[in-house]
Amino acid sequence: MTLKDQIAIVTGGSRGIGQAICLDLARHGAQVFAAARNVDRIHSWVSEAGETDGKITPIALDVTDPQSIERLVEECAAATGKIDVLINNAGITRDGLLMSMEDEQFDEVIDTNLRGAFRLCRSAIRHMIRARRGRIINITSITGIAGNAGQANYAAAKAGLIGITKSLAKEVGKRGVTVNAVAPGFIETDMTDVLPDKLKTEVQKHIPLQRMGRPEEIASVCTFLAGPGASYITGQTFVVDGGLHT
Ligand code: NAP
Repeated sequence: MTLKDQIAIVTGGSRGIGQAICLDLARHGAQVFAAARNVDRIHSWVSEAGETDGKITPIALDVTDPQSIERLVEECAAATGKIDVLINNAGITRDGLLMSMEDEQFDEVIDTNLRGAFRLCRSAIRHMIRARRGRIINITSITGIAGNAGQANYAAAKAGLIGITKSLAKEVGKRGVTVNAVAPGFIETDMTDVLPDKLKTEVQKHIPLQRMGRPEEIASVCTFLAGPGASYITGQTFVVDGGLHT
């Protein structure tokens, strides 16, 4: 119970990596606000995961809507008096080659994956600074480090998130807040489910561990970073990719 009495917000908590993060934090004792647009979907997996009874609160959030973000942070702080952990996990892809990429395609990904996380950091950090403690974890991607053909928009957003992580870590370290990023490789979720099987097989050949990752394997790193064992780590990006990007 390393996170007993800790209050955590997880964006993109309706499925995939976000769902696994919510469950892992709750199993380690945290009170979790699981936030996404499809709040019914959160309610449905929460009721199936009986073991964390009462520890996960589903809450509606659209990270592209500034008011929705303010509402979430204020509701969470008002209900519990604090925010200990923020995990910016919500993300989308709108892939295409740069030469034919529409402005909207670029903007939509930046708005969700980068601006949304920026706004959440800005809203939550006030509460953390006041408490002189807090943990922010941004879910980036190895694409933000290495780039990927067909993902210039996504790579720009995820690289930007690493930039925010390093800068904010330097701004708030003296206030007792740590800020880190986790960069997954290929993880089995809806996001990668849409990729052609041929591509997935090809990619797995280049992964030293010879398989895609599971959402739980990202969640466990987030739980570590949110917990007492990570008290002297800030401004870092943890690559969790089975060795793909080495
Ligand atoms: P996913 O299964 O597609 O889930 C994406 C999550 O983001 C959903 O919960 C979705 O919920 C939420 N979301 C999307 N737009 C949102 C919005 N405007 N407001 C609030 N929530 C929103 O993807 P995933 O694989 O779990 O990805 C989670 C994170 O890991 C993303 O940031 C992704 O970029 C990153 N990542 C994934 C992989 C991978 O291989 N899967 C690799 C590297 C990085 P709603 O639709 O209900 O809003």
